[in-house]
Amino acid sequence: MVDHLANTEINSQRIAAVESCFGASGQPLALLGRVLLGEGVLTKECRKKAKPRIFFLFNDILVYGSIVLNKRKYRSQHIIPLEEVTLELLPETLQAKNRWMIKTAKKSFVVSAASATERQEWISHIEECVRRQLRATGRSPSTEHAAPWIPDKATDICMRCTQTRFSALTRRHHCRKCGFVVCAECSRQRFLLPRLSPKPVRVCSLCYRELAAQQRQEEAEEQGAGSPGQQAHLTRAICGASSGDDDDSDEDKEGSGDGDWSSRVEFYSSGVAWSAFHS
Ligand SMILES: [Zn+2]
Ligand SMILES: [Zn+2]
Repeated sequence: MVDHLANTEINSQRIAAVESCFGASGQPLALLGRVLLGEGVLTKECRKKAKPRIFFLFNDILVYGSIVLNKRKYRSQHIIPLEEVTLELLPETLQAKNRWMIKTAKKSFVVSAASATERQEWISHIEECVRRQLRATGRSPSTEHAAPWIPDKATDICMRCTQTRFSALTRRHHCRKCGFVVCAECSRQRFLLPRLSPKPVRVCSLCYRELAAQQRQEEAEEQGAGSPGQQAHLTRAICGASSGDDDDSDEDKEGSGDGDWSSRVEFYSSGVAWSAFHS
């Protein structure tokens, strides 16, 4: 599906164009054997609202960023290795149709395409790339994934205590484990979730209890297995607001990029009938 594009001039040019649009803010993307399969604008459901984002599908990674000037300048580049990706179709909401979730261990988020056909194109392309990557690396599909953050607007009250009402002064926070919108009081604890961060992260009171119980059980099992020489391992639970992650940002800070972008999708590979075929 992609092999005929590998190491071709046109593929190198396309990748160089992407690199130049991200400029110094992005990573080098050219790599031997890497193929840019397609690109297009998808709507990404962010914490505050849904925003257009430019997506580039390579045979081994999915890259996305915010749009400063379409086809000219992008920033806030994110690179997702495809072997970590699983997709989940989502039902439409009042605000968005043609939605699906892109799930990885570190981060999961919801995107939507302009049409059902586009969604189908994206999904079948991504899934084909994931299958090829898994075959190539011998890995099995990932089963654990980060909970997507529930958008701020979804609730006016804390989803744990259901008492605290959010306002300009009473801030929303997100549990990194379940993605719920919670108040400060219901998310005082921090817990080390190595998949997400090397530092302990904010979790809600319910997730904290579950994680701590799980940890105690793991520790009991280790001791039961009898390994006295083993160092008592670092406790993963930390109480109190200590880790300075309180800005709660989901790294989509930029104010621009909300314009009305053409959402035309271009796929460069053959094998399926694409709405816009280039090769
Ligand atoms: Zn609460
Ligand atoms: Zn939680």
